[in-house]
Amino acid sequence: MYEEAKEDKNYSNKVCLYSLLSLNSVSKNVSFLLVQGGHLSHGNFIYCFQEKGIVLAQRRLGSLESRTKFLKTIYSSKILGLSTSAKMSSKFKNAKRIEGLDSNVWIEFTKLAADPSVVNLGQGLPDISLPMYIKEELSKIATTDSLNQYTRGFGHPSLVKALSCLYEKLYQNQINPDKEILVTVGAYGSLFNAIHGLIDEGDEVIIIVPFYDCYEPMVRMAGATPVFVPLRSKPVDGRKWSSSDWTLDPQELASKFNSKTKAIILNTPHNPLGKVYTREELQVIADLCIKYDTLCISDEVYEWLVYAGNKHLKIATFPGMWERTITIGSAGKTFSVTGWKLGWSIGPDHLIKHLQTVQQNTVYTCATPLQEALAHAFWIDIKRMDDPECYFNSLPKELELKRDRMVHLLESIGLKPIVPDGGYFIIADVSLMDADLSDMENNNEPYDYKFVKWMTKNKKLSAIPVSAFCNSETKLQFEKFVRFCFIKKDSTLDAAEEIFKAWSRQKS
Ligand code: PMP
Repeated sequence: MYEEAKEDKNYSNKVCLYSLLSLNSVSKNVSFLLVQGGHLSHGNFIYCFQEKGIVLAQRRLGSLESRTKFLKTIYSSKILGLSTSAKMSSKFKNAKRIEGLDSNVWIEFTKLAADPSVVNLGQGLPDISLPMYIKEELSKIATTDSLNQYTRGFGHPSLVKALSCLYEKLYQNQINPDKEILVTVGAYGSLFNAIHGLIDEGDEVIIIVPFYDCYEPMVRMAGATPVFVPLRSKPVDGRKWSSSDWTLDPQELASKFNSKTKAIILNTPHNPLGKVYTREELQVIADLCIKYDTLCISDEVYEWLVYAGNKHLKIATFPGMWERTITIGSAGKTFSVTGWKLGWSIGPDHLIKHLQTVQQNTVYTCATPLQEALAHAFWIDIKRMDDPECYFNSLPKELELKRDRMVHLLESIGLKPIVPDGGYFIIADVSLMDADLSDMENNNEPYDYKFVKWMTKNKKLSAIPVSAFCNSETKLQFEKFVRFCFIKKDSTLDAAEEIFKAWSRQKS
């Protein structure tokens, strides 16, 4: 039992409680037992139950009877939130591949922002109205019986057809709807299928920091090693700070490639910086991919959200890149329907077939009515791609005004935002806001985590800490930055403006 407890490198309640129960059964022989994250001391009849350094329960016990009572209290404790069966078995311990991956910024901060009095500029959740035709298409489809049943696992036929038609225009090449496109549960599903279909234990995967937070845990779950390379900012002196000031150092990037490098994950337009990679920057990446025979997983979910003076380029269209690239898109970002959770992967048959294998053995298929409605929406916009009314053109125009408003607002309260060239997030160094975070509970957290929690509680405004998009070694570099989402209706931005203005009046 002692050996087992020593091996438990997990902080979870289950492990601590399991150890506690085991201790009870052989208590006379054990004077001290340490479980990482919690300790149980028995010899002097003190039971101390801790989780992550916080004492949950502690009692000095004089007799066997009081000890039994105490264990009963632990059993039924709401703090531990466990069922009786969960307390009984070590088999309830997590699988090794998810070890240490239990915290998640979206779960933590979405919960905080759920209070209706909070103005939510946190998660990338549009609160603007959807295009009317999308809602109409979905409601029509719901009345057709057959469209409410399972459809083709790798993508509903009308949707893969619409996607191939659209992307053939963009790639200037034929795309086979059945073999070179896979419809997935959001872009998350595509990332998961690509990583689990193509990456092996022992492989290295290059991730550019900051990065969309799920890249690292997905690579680790596949048993591979993430290799991080940072975007670095050049000095900007008096002028506006732009996402294009953040670049990769080509030498530094090259130093991360070697014979074990299986893939690089690229994200353009970038979340959270809003960077849109230029042709020259993508060429450096493409050259290295070809030199080291490396795959490229290109997350392009914000492909349509690019602002004046910038152009989104697809690395898959660069010479020598189609055969090694999986390009990922998202209905949530394309049509502002994040709740539909539909995404797609596009790439050569010899790669997509491995993603299909993961899909057929995991989720199998995606929701039919949503896929059919999405296909209709695509056809409407494919037919008017040169028209300003086309959603691919009208949404970025609408968002560019919101971006400029956010820039102005953040500057007016003395911050220096990084102006994004794409996407719908803006980041700013908030340490200048002089927030008094001294009463924040968890002092070990990065500054931005404490700041956002403090701001949500005290100012009723939520955002996302940028260090959530970093590996542990680079968190410090970004912990003064906070990400604000601006795909919000004017009244939401008005409410945020009021909060910022009142705050800045209080400061002066
Ligand atoms: N990649 C990036 C860069 C994202 O920002 C997001 C969503 N915020 C995703 C992937 C996941 O998209 P989806 O909701 O379609 O799964």
